[in-house]
Amino acid sequence: MFRYSTIKDYHTALQNGQTTCVEAVRCYLETIRAKQHLNAFLEVYETEALEQASALDLRRNANDELSLLHGVVVGLKDVISYKGHHLSAASQILGNFTAVYNATVVDKLLAAGAIIIGRQNCDEFAMGSSNENSAFGTVKNSLDETRVPGGSSGGSAVSIKAGMCMISLGSDTGGSVRQPADFCGVVGVKPTYGRISRYGLIAYASSFDQIGIFTNSVEDAALVLEVISGPDDFDSTVSQQEIPAYSKELEAPGKKYRIAYFKESLENPALDPAIRAGIEAFIEKLTGLGHEVKSVDFELLEHVVPTYYVLTTAEASSNLSRFDGVKFGYRAEIADGDLTELYKASRSQGFGKEVQRRIMLGTFVLSAGYFDAYFTKAQQVRQLLCNRTKEIFTDFDAIISPTVPSPAFKIGEKSSDPVEMFLADIYTVFANLVGIPGISIPLFKHPNGMPFGLQVMTSHFNELPLLRLSKEFMLIAD
Ligand code: GLN
Repeated sequence: MFRYSTIKDYHTALQNGQTTCVEAVRCYLETIRAKQHLNAFLEVYETEALEQASALDLRRNANDELSLLHGVVVGLKDVISYKGHHLSAASQILGNFTAVYNATVVDKLLAAGAIIIGRQNCDEFAMGSSNENSAFGTVKNSLDETRVPGGSSGGSAVSIKAGMCMISLGSDTGGSVRQPADFCGVVGVKPTYGRISRYGLIAYASSFDQIGIFTNSVEDAALVLEVISGPDDFDSTVSQQEIPAYSKELEAPGKKYRIAYFKESLENPALDPAIRAGIEAFIEKLTGLGHEVKSVDFELLEHVVPTYYVLTTAEASSNLSRFDGVKFGYRAEIADGDLTELYKASRSQGFGKEVQRRIMLGTFVLSAGYFDAYFTKAQQVRQLLCNRTKEIFTDFDAIISPTVPSPAFKIGEKSSDPVEMFLADIYTVFANLVGIPGISIPLFKHPNGMPFGLQVMTSHFNELPLLRLSKEFMLIAD
């Protein structure tokens, strides 16, 4: 019987003849079918995945060294381009659009032997924190179906928790990988801005967006990161820095770290008391183990959410202007041939409420009369955040915080109050504003039975210590 724990164990089982890729894919297809009501997948590539699996099984000989992701079953958030497959960003405006090229990450996954099983539901254009903004319906949290899975990559997180695939790729502009990972009790990592190519990722806010990874274990995350990172001729923002063999260098026994946490994070009145208590107890444990854990002042914390929403909506209003009813996707029927009317009708019918709100907000902050008051000022705050972060990392190896101020909330609980929803991002948007890597690891259980995570962040391109620390933290918490 096929049972999944890690890619490493799966590969051993394949080599020993205890399982096959076809058996693995069948098992996931069955689970996806049985849990269809969670609405995690928008489309499943059943025949194709089975064909890919059987081709891999035929090619494999006993004792072969397997390619890094041989037979690994992957789900893709519906913002990542997979040639010949529909791509909708969970929006009506893309209509029946079919991707015409592969995202670089898709090319890399396939070259490493991965099997792509389907595309996963998310908030429309990755805008949201609860997956309630999808044009194709809300995703349910598999641990409590009355609760949200988080967003925007909710389908990708649920797929991992509910056993619908081995790994998922999502995107994280302000927390969309780490926050749903926290709500669903899985690992979610957002690497440094510029570690992974964004070519073929539908843009939300280009100076924030980064592809991220959902897994059950830090080991799997390390391996996948190793495969999909690296320079790309199609994305000049990707760093040329060398990619360490993360998966082989995860062990760092006995190493002691200097770890900071922001005083303002733990004292935030919006923070759930049980989450605060969990993190404080963990900090004591770390100190007891010889790590140096210190509180630092971070007065700028109250500005991160407004700064994030000014800058990302500005970038989104520009990025989303290409969806105009002319070039591709949905086109409204209009009575006369007026082009402006066509734009208006197509965009008002094709975009959902939240996306329209952000396009309008972004257009407003970029408008001549308000540009300096909002956009320029937010850019200045972003610079201050970067400076302060740099300072902190001269004294510390890592920063820890809660990932989200509350555990997964009920479906409908926050959907009528956008500001309250935005505030759920207070701990995650910081890493995107300054471009550093962050991970959410599922360490804790709330008294209400739901999981919650610890967020760990390190300085730019220091994913290796990030993963090492996370692995160690998972062991300590066990
Ligand atoms: N919740 C945040 C937002 O709505 C983050 C989204 C994301 O990371 N894509 O903007």
